Amino acid sequence: MRMKLAATAAMALAALPLSANADGEVNIYSYRQAYLLEPLLNAFTEETGIDTNVVFAKQGLAERLEREGRNSPADVVMTVDISRINELVEKDLVASVDTDTLHKNIPENLRHPEGKWYALTTRGRLIFASKERVKEGEITSYEQLADDKWEGRICTRSGKHPYNIALFSSMIAHHGEAETAKWLEGLKDNLARKPQGGDRDQIKAIAEGVCDLSIGNSYYYGNMLKDDKQRPIAEQVNLVFPNADGRGTHVNISGISLTKSAPNKDNAIKLMEFLSSPEAQRIYAEANTEYPANPDVKPSGLVAEWGDIHPDDLSLQEIANNREAAVKLVDRVDYDG
Ligand code: FE
Repeated sequence: MRMKLAATAAMALAALPLSANADGEVNIYSYRQAYLLEPLLNAFTEETGIDTNVVFAKQGLAERLEREGRNSPADVVMTVDISRINELVEKDLVASVDTDTLHKNIPENLRHPEGKWYALTTRGRLIFASKERVKEGEITSYEQLADDKWEGRICTRSGKHPYNIALFSSMIAHHGEAETAKWLEGLKDNLARKPQGGDRDQIKAIAEGVCDLSIGNSYYYGNMLKDDKQRPIAEQVNLVFPNADGRGTHVNISGISLTKSAPNKDNAIKLMEFLSSPEAQRIYAEANTEYPANPDVKPSGLVAEWGDIHPDDLSLQEIANNREAAVKLVDRVDYDG
């Protein structure tokens, strides 16, 4: 009766117990991990009586949907990162949903103009600064990452990673391509080492004295603080909400889309509405130290302790539209080289 988890590896995806046209069910393809979804989906089933089936995968869900075509059992896709979400739109795999409830719960800049995706949570892409070697207030914006004073003092993951591409896309939206190219070159010149690892690894590098600043998503820091082993490392850094006093901090999203082929469309829309509701938003955001997308729900726990985030209200769609230009810039300045 509870959430049925189908598979975690691509190999196992072939033998799914999903059945199309089932009544009283909703089938979910998810890039989000099971532990995040379980409490939410249990609450949904309790409230509606609708069962949920989840296929979890780290990659390849868009390709799978494409392959399955009209016969796909998937009703909704749950994803992270705007470029991944946009891929579903560009491949024409998702359908428009426009309901009063969804419009009321999710602000305009956090949903597709035709309802082809809705954000469910947001995360800030922040600057982490060594408590020891960087004074508070010494850096306050993304733009300053290119200043000479940080030469050899910054660590980041690959410039090609979707999280960085989205940040660079937002820079293009604000400053244009030519200026962003100069900025990115400046940032590259300031790197302490070749881009590598994930966002957490950059915080570790600060703790080890390799660099003094890094860029990373807010929930990585939150989840490090929640982990007994990693807390002492995370405690070596201050978090900076870049551009908080200006245009706002760059945020990315996790979201949900209705598939074009959804066999259980009504149930799928009920799930989407439920996930945007204050009750579900609270559970979802807290599970991964993210921000609720529904502005009526205040962040809680650790996230609330960090203080208010002032998000850049640039439309996520515009960020997605600049993706290709951002990838080209990363190549041009040989960011990872
Ligand atoms: Fe992540």
